[in-house]
Amino acid sequence: MYSDWHEFKRDTLSLTPYIRYTENMTIIRQDDFIASIADALQYISYYHPPDFIRALNEAYEKEQSTAAKDAIAQILINSRLCAEGHRPICQDTGIVTVFLKIGMHVEWEAAMSVEAMVNEAVHRAYTDAENPLRSSIVSDPAGARKNTNDNTPAVIHTEVVSGDKVDIVVAAKGAGSENKAHFTVLNPSDDIVEWVLATVPKMGAGWCPPGILGIGIGGTAEKALLMAKEALLKPINIHELKTRGAKTSIEKLRLELYKKINTLGIGAQGLGGVTTVLDVKIRDYPTHAASLPVAIIPNCAATRHAHITLDGSGPATLTPPVLEDWPNIVWEAGAHAKKVDLDHITKEQIETWQPGETLLLSGKLLTGRDTAHKRITGLLANDEPLPKGLDFTNRFIYYVGPVDAVRDEAVGPAGPTTATRMDKFTDVMLEQTGLLGMIGKAERGPDTIDSIRRHRAVYLIATGGAAYLISKSIRKAHIIAFKELGMEAVYEFEVEDMPVTVAVDSRGNSIHTSGPKEWHSRLAGIPITTAG
Ligand code: SF4
Repeated sequence: MYSDWHEFKRDTLSLTPYIRYTENMTIIRQDDFIASIADALQYISYYHPPDFIRALNEAYEKEQSTAAKDAIAQILINSRLCAEGHRPICQDTGIVTVFLKIGMHVEWEAAMSVEAMVNEAVHRAYTDAENPLRSSIVSDPAGARKNTNDNTPAVIHTEVVSGDKVDIVVAAKGAGSENKAHFTVLNPSDDIVEWVLATVPKMGAGWCPPGILGIGIGGTAEKALLMAKEALLKPINIHELKTRGAKTSIEKLRLELYKKINTLGIGAQGLGGVTTVLDVKIRDYPTHAASLPVAIIPNCAATRHAHITLDGSGPATLTPPVLEDWPNIVWEAGAHAKKVDLDHITKEQIETWQPGETLLLSGKLLTGRDTAHKRITGLLANDEPLPKGLDFTNRFIYYVGPVDAVRDEAVGPAGPTTATRMDKFTDVMLEQTGLLGMIGKAERGPDTIDSIRRHRAVYLIATGGAAYLISKSIRKAHIIAFKELGMEAVYEFEVEDMPVTVAVDSRGNSIHTSGPKEWHSRLAGIPITTAG
């Protein structure tokens, strides 16, 4: 008679291979699994991977475009501030994606399902009292689009593999870069390089370059996209590859694409410059003889991912980087920037601003993004009044959805969101509200540029991926309208020396057109014929 089940197994069945197998199982406890993922999500919210810092610093060192160099400097300074302050690199703290490889020799000591444990970790990480992260996830995406308020659920990919460990990669992907994913199925005889070089310019600047391109080639439609995402999670090593030379067709393709994409001259934030991609990562898989699926997913200035392993000995820990990993960069653009008093600004002053010029804004501005614009233009269309106190006359609007403030902050990290999404509202806003100009990131469409020109307005950009640095220039913040929208509410910010660049001037000249054109000409050795 056996009083203990383990004793029974050992004594009666230990000679069979099957029982030896079960006795060597690694026990993974629920609390360890949840705590490890929650800690990793907090970690990646404020620490860039060291390989990204090194690659970005190299790009900074070799950048020749003043505007692009300035943007990279802001991203690097922001990165260091976030590491020191344990606050998010970007206001968009991303949608969580988790890749799990669960060893077949793993046994769970858990009451929750694996999916429920991952989502509990996301809940804990995003509602952390010391460093709350922005809740960006909405349920019912085709309908009510209601914020889930804790950034759950995560997107989870699970594989069961040999071994006795649980291997976890966590990533938090901002929408600006995720929205620029592209997929196609080429004919087998088509040229992949040609398709990628035609596609990257269409991605515009909303993915906050310079970053990394993940490319998946082969398999099926969904496999190609998944491989593109997985490729982004590998370390940046294009320089090692350049040094040792390509040994496979995929390595050859990486080198060719890296060179040719950078020759496009898109540059940091799409301002025109030497570096658009820090690396091109590719994964491939056998495919059907009649197919050539290809997917691209870019990773942005807020590159966030970490790799941890659970071996049954407790929660996984990540080693924090040391501050020496960050270059000591001094932001010099402020020295020659034009100071602007937002509270006494006139159309005549705005008309003197040139594309590419750096401004330091002080005074009051309003904020608003997708849902607020939809509501405001809806009210205007129905001849209904705007909410009390919401008056855009002679004001600027900043497209932003900030992170909640902690401690003595006026507001949490508050970088710009992609302005292109607001294009369809801009003409109405300029025509009917008395708005003077807008601040966001990335390019505007041709109709919006024409509207800016007709209204003698202006479009300014702040640096995407420099959210914590930008928040340091926001002295006061309070909600003016649509409080129920959370981070999408309309705030009034009082800013002091907030750095921005003129992107579309009052004559309709766009730096997102002229900058890349000029730098493509220079890098490709083509004579420059126009700057417009
Ligand atoms: S760096 Fe740009 S694309 Fe990336 S999360 Fe931030 S705003 Fe979005």
